Amino acid sequence: MKNFSTILVAVDFSDSSDNAFQLALSMAQKFTAHLVILHVINEPIDLRGFYVPHISYEKLEEEIVEGAEKMMQSFCRLHLDDFSDFETAIVPGMPYEQILQQADDSGADLIVLGTHGRTGLDHVLFGSTAEKVVRKSKFPVLTVRLDEDD
Ligand code: AMP
Repeated sequence: MKNFSTILVAVDFSDSSDNAFQLALSMAQKFTAHLVILHVINEPIDLRGFYVPHISYEKLEEEIVEGAEKMMQSFCRLHLDDFSDFETAIVPGMPYEQILQQADDSGADLIVLGTHGRTGLDHVLFGSTAEKVVRKSKFPVLTVRLDEDD
């Protein structure tokens, strides 16, 4: 059986990605793999200086990054127990592009993500991030569906 050495798990802090994370963590433990926990700040690029020109975007971005870092810290405190072979990454951009890019940069040999995220379009088979990652990734991708009864 293939032994994974670096697993990248993409979290958007939804129930679906929490669920995918649990599987990524079990796999990292089983394979003694390094876990890269990635969150992408999906920035509303169109809003910059266009609708609300009086807002300082530098300040806003700083606060968004700080907020995301706090969420990541409490996520790790809550979910990682005594697992220590991990790193976190918070980057701005388009989620699917950054998931692929960060997987490449970190030398991941497996990407784990939920089939759906915070957009919650349950009637579609895959959310748009999941679909694009599956279609474009050169690495194996494991998508995890959250059962309604979980
Ligand atoms: P979606 O396709 O957007 O419904 O989301 C499917 C999965 O992609 C989620 O369960 C996450 O695992 C991942 N994902 C979506 N958005 C992000 C994001 N901003 N940062 C990290 N992972 C994400």
